[in-house]
Amino acid sequence: MGEATANEILLRIEGMRTWFPIKRGVLARTVGHVKAVDDVSLEIRRGETLGLVGESGCGKTMLGRTVLRLEEPTAGSAWFDGNELFALDERQMRPLRRRLQMVFQDPYASLNPRMTVLDILTEAMAFHRLLRGSREEAAVQLLGEVGMDAGTLHRYPHEFSGGQRQRISIARALSLSPEFLVCDEAVSALDVSVQAQVINLLMDLREARGLSYLFISHDLSVVRHISHRVAVMYLGRIVETGPAEAVIDQPLHPYTQALVSAIPTPGRERPKRIVLSGELPSPANPPAGCPFHTRCPEAMEVCRKQFPALHRQGERTVHCHLCLSSQASSVATAGNSVPGPAKNVMKT
Ligand code: SF4
Repeated sequence: MGEATANEILLRIEGMRTWFPIKRGVLARTVGHVKAVDDVSLEIRRGETLGLVGESGCGKTMLGRTVLRLEEPTAGSAWFDGNELFALDERQMRPLRRRLQMVFQDPYASLNPRMTVLDILTEAMAFHRLLRGSREEAAVQLLGEVGMDAGTLHRYPHEFSGGQRQRISIARALSLSPEFLVCDEAVSALDVSVQAQVINLLMDLREARGLSYLFISHDLSVVRHISHRVAVMYLGRIVETGPAEAVIDQPLHPYTQALVSAIPTPGRERPKRIVLSGELPSPANPPAGCPFHTRCPEAMEVCRKQFPALHRQGERTVHCHLCLSSQASSVATAGNSVPGPAKNVMKT
């Protein structure tokens, strides 16, 4: 995996919320909210890939869509290359849309079956008046970048395999020369061998074009391969962030520990599988205190009452009372107080 090319922050999100009102009765009164994304703060550097992981329904896709303004945020701010995204109206947003693109999970559903590859790859370029030279030349160049040949130009999406269709989707996203891509479960629908090829293609394109990715996936082994850093999401909130290898090799948050324990690792010893009890609670009615407390094997009394504050440990962040109590113990020890029993937060 290559290094992020610079420390320059390309995208910064602060306190972002995407809530949807629940309306009831003939007067359609708002009786609550579905908190799909709740108070999320993140940064992505230029040339960096941030892997976003969590179970289905935890808000990953909604986070990606809100950053691209495909959904409207309820609160918070986001800056992209100095532009305050959530303060822009549609007209001001238009030139930025070109720079922020998305690759979807299902390439068949996201490609118009009535359009040829040539039309798919050049439609947006024509709309944004970016075509220099002929449409064919532009499309052939894009196809070459994603490892496909010019002979496919006049074919339709149904004539391709899933991997080839995803390559066409990536080429379409590249057609506007973006700087930032949201890849939403972009390889999840593909066979394992094809997944590896598409992941390698995304990594090559990142190096060649200096792209930054928000790489959304429920598959931690894929995320570890492509990501510089990882953010773990649970019930609309980010619970842990840090360098990919550190988070996956030594997860601090009990939820991350459970996700990591489920990664298949043939030939390597892994910690005992942690099976979470119960379903993911509804984002319309998240538990009080730490939202993970209803399923957490380490839950304490305080977890039911208080949302855990942010704990920083070097480049890592985690929201968990265990880490906070372990920090309090080490501060007490350093101050020559009588040390209390430190909790062991490293389960791996
Ligand atoms: Fe578990 Fe408590 Fe930590 Fe939440 S704060 S993850 S319930 S130990």
